[in-house]
Amino acid sequence: MDESPNCAICNGPATPECPCESDRLQIAVKQAEDRAMQARLQEIRDWVVSHARQHILNAFERLSSARKQSTAQYLGSLPYYSVYVQYSGRPPIHPMHLAPLQAQISEAHADLKRGIDADWRSSVLRYPEVLDYFYSLVELRLPSPTSPRVMEPPFATAGYADAGYGHVRVKKEKKKRRERSEREGSAAPPDYAREHMYTVAGRMRGPPPVPTPPIQPGYPTPPPNAYYNHGY
Ligand SMILES: [Zn+2]
Repeated sequence: MDESPNCAICNGPATPECPCESDRLQIAVKQAEDRAMQARLQEIRDWVVSHARQHILNAFERLSSARKQSTAQYLGSLPYYSVYVQYSGRPPIHPMHLAPLQAQISEAHADLKRGIDADWRSSVLRYPEVLDYFYSLVELRLPSPTSPRVMEPPFATAGYADAGYGHVRVKKEKKKRRERSEREGSAAPPDYAREHMYTVAGRMRGPPPVPTPPIQPGYPTPPPNAYYNHGY
């Protein structure tokens, strides 16, 4: 008898060709991802963008203010410049001196504008690198696979008892061991008791028990409840 369940969606026999379940799963995953991640992704994006923007603005500010300073220094070094400023661009000096001064001033201003444009451009072009940097500061942490919240999710509150995946696995292992020891006519291996304690009391604290090879048929002391499984 084929014990594998029929397709949960179309009720056809479970075959690799029936795409219903994996299609539905894909949709469910996408929807769950949206529910779980959209708000967080938006929050992360806002955080990254605002820090990146602030960094770019600060960097541009440093570049352009250094440039403005050196332009001011250069202008201050020109002959007659202080008189020119003092008389708001109409200094009482001979046109022979005024004309070259005006040319130097407007050239310096044009230089400054070109420089500021270049500073802005080079700052903005750094966005990819700066965004990468701030995204790299965001930590994504998955819980430990042995965390109680992973092993025993609290679905019992949803109206049915869920013993968690750990129990299922441990029970299956125990069943296998029982079957094996029945077949081999030997008692349960001596590590049974230790593992039993571990799985009940310490399951949450460490890695899952390492499978051990079957113990040679002999006369180890079986754990108390092993007798129930042997028809003694
Ligand atoms: Zn189907």
